Amino acid sequence: MLSRATAVDAIGRAATRRRVRTTPPSRVARASSSSSSSSSSQTPPEPSERVRGLENEGAYAVLASAKALELRGAKVAHLEIGQPSYETPANVSRAGIAAIEGGATKYAAANGTDDLRRAVAEYVSRTRGTRVDAEDVVIGPGAKPGLFLPTLAIVEPGDEVVYPDPGFPTYAAMVDVAGGRRVPVKLREDGASFDMAALEAAVNEKTKLIVINSPGNPTGGVMPREDVERVAELAKKFNCYVLSDEIYSRLIYDVEDPDAIFSIISLDGMLERTILVDGFSKTYCMTGWRLGWAVCPPKIAERVKLLTVHSVGCVAAFTQAAGVEALTGPQDSVQIMRDEYRERRDFLVDALNAIPGVQCPKPAGAFYVFPDVSSFGLSSREVASILLNDAHVALLPGTDFGDNGEGKIRLSYVGGGVDELRDAVNRIERALRALR
Ligand code: PMP
Repeated sequence: MLSRATAVDAIGRAATRRRVRTTPPSRVARASSSSSSSSSSQTPPEPSERVRGLENEGAYAVLASAKALELRGAKVAHLEIGQPSYETPANVSRAGIAAIEGGATKYAAANGTDDLRRAVAEYVSRTRGTRVDAEDVVIGPGAKPGLFLPTLAIVEPGDEVVYPDPGFPTYAAMVDVAGGRRVPVKLREDGASFDMAALEAAVNEKTKLIVINSPGNPTGGVMPREDVERVAELAKKFNCYVLSDEIYSRLIYDVEDPDAIFSIISLDGMLERTILVDGFSKTYCMTGWRLGWAVCPPKIAERVKLLTVHSVGCVAAFTQAAGVEALTGPQDSVQIMRDEYRERRDFLVDALNAIPGVQCPKPAGAFYVFPDVSSFGLSSREVASILLNDAHVALLPGTDFGDNGEGKIRLSYVGGGVDELRDAVNRIERALRALR
């Protein structure tokens, strides 16, 4: 059996071999002939300290291994990546195409077009019940820059940043690049929120930023209101910022009004210390369009805008035109998608809990489940590897999201419907039975 690590290594080595073979001869020749003998014998410097610890997002590595299996003829169930199977709503795509045809193909303002920033400000004000200003909105290529750039704008070397563990891997990466100190805080057993005692112990005078993510990746957990209120109190007490990653805000199930989103930004005194991040990837199935936003306090928004100027420049104007249509046009696609995801979640949670040895809490949001498989006596990486290589089900080990993900695996249920999920769970069950 090929372990996951071996499969990934093999892919990495193959890529390296390919690179070596395809190096243009002129470059090799230049390197050996153009410089003096003393300089050519020196190895060029290593990548900087601040990027040396970076790792790939686990989902991409597993996707590569799954593709390698597929090349050998395997039929792989893809539960590893948060890529909705739905297409971008047609009205949104049409708006993007019309914008290209209308000539929106030039540079745009670095912080976003007036139209989109206004639409975002109106949308956030309406859904979060707190007035935010278009001036404080910065548009970026996806939600990720909304995480990364404000962190660079806020964190000084040595500042502590508190974030969920297990949590989205970009949090640890952005803290490293900013030179901050990682302070991962474990989640409670059902993954819905921080272990609040651990959070209380982690936040102190050295904390500059607290990251929250509700609904959360990888657990699907939705933080109870009182926990969010406590985070706000801590942020005010220790005078730090909160980065609230609300990318799954429209995917909360079993609530009366899913479009009224409770956000920390609406709490007393929090507008001036919250960076609210959201975007289009999940809500409007626009992962490949690369469009998201951060609402920041004015002095941070100004710096994030400058970081955008000097890093990515701006987001394509036609992409932003599609974003305006997504926020202001018909919203029925969101409702349809949410209903379908709820059905998949309910099926998957019940089916996983029916497997002896698996315990799966029912998440209130996002599109992941995060069951406990520790009873099989293997690491979560080993379980994920066996499920990929023996059952041909691609999913992620909990440890891809931090040390506290040990014993868990993450399954995404956006890639296919209940029939595909049933087939995947049957295969998981057979493989896990063999381990008992
Ligand atoms: N935050 C979380 C919690 C996510 O899961 C993701 C995407 N998987 C992002 C941010 C990034 O979103 P985008 O693709 O829009 O950059």
